[in-house]
Amino acid sequence: MYRKAIFPGSYYQGEGLIRDFAGIDALKDKRVFLLTTRSGLGIIEENAENWQKICHVEHALFSGECTFAEIDRICDLLKDRTVDYIAALGGGKVMDAARTVAGRYNLKYLIIPTIAATDAPCVSASVIYNDQGGVADYLVTRSPSYVLVDTRIIANAPVRFLVSGMGDALATRFEAEECCRANRRNVCGGFNTKAAMAIAGLCYEILMEHGLNAKTACENGIVTPALDYVIEAATLLSGLGFESGGLSIAHGIHDCLTNLHQTHGCHHGEKVAFGVLTHLILTDKPRALVDEVYSFCESVGLPVTLADIGITDVDERELCDAVSLVLSNPASYIHNHCLHLTPEGIVNAMKMADAIGRRRKQERTG
Ligand SMILES: [Zn+2]
Repeated sequence: MYRKAIFPGSYYQGEGLIRDFAGIDALKDKRVFLLTTRSGLGIIEENAENWQKICHVEHALFSGECTFAEIDRICDLLKDRTVDYIAALGGGKVMDAARTVAGRYNLKYLIIPTIAATDAPCVSASVIYNDQGGVADYLVTRSPSYVLVDTRIIANAPVRFLVSGMGDALATRFEAEECCRANRRNVCGGFNTKAAMAIAGLCYEILMEHGLNAKTACENGIVTPALDYVIEAATLLSGLGFESGGLSIAHGIHDCLTNLHQTHGCHHGEKVAFGVLTHLILTDKPRALVDEVYSFCESVGLPVTLADIGITDVDERELCDAVSLVLSNPASYIHNHCLHLTPEGIVNAMKMADAIGRRRKQERTG
């Protein structure tokens, strides 16, 4: 039995740091192959001249989906090139593709998020999707050498991404605690360190203290200390906290929800947020804590009812099937707890989470 925690090589966060790649010496005169989404093209155009003074940057457009076919295509692009670093500019999927390609070629890689919608930037694992949009595989490669988070870029992105990132980060503390309680291994394959638990706890505290003001800052395109702290919580602390702390029921519920087509318009972090509410019910958390989490979700606009995530007509059979599918997978994180869970018990908890959310909405509107 051993404890294990993993980290990215270096993490940089600040306004405008993209202009000179945060002054990273190791990039000097190197060849960087930058994979980008369309949203990153403007950033490349703005900075290309500066970047060429530091290193040789060549870019290619990512298709938008992290599938094995897309990874093969990118690998083909690299076949006859000499490259020192792969870089990803964009959201979670382009990061996952770059990470996988870097793993295949045994290359170091940089992550440059343009949104703070998930805690994918700092981790070693990638999600590979199939052509139908379902999860085909989880691949663990290696942690990034550098993560560069330009807070100006995040502040300019639509606020829904930041709110979704807060939803993903909201789960980190509760899932790490549950893994610890159940003596389950974390995502990187060891038992939890005190460091990972402290990071997961701090992530939650920052959301409670600064989440709402960070949202307001992002809505107005202003980089403030609150936004800075929440970007760190959603990107660095949540990433370290989940990979070295562990996933549990909240992400398991997220996976159940992805089996329902009604939720496909929701972002990852929005479904995770509803997973957190269900997690709190199943683990019978104190009422004050449950109220605190609901109040937070309501304040920033995260889902608190099934209708909020697109499920307006609740079909119990359908919910139960979606849950059973996840429970039947022995590798699912939904098993990381010390409870006895049945599909019916989980559906009941989801219905209770929804009922509390609806009651609170009613109370607020009088
Ligand atoms: Zn997540």
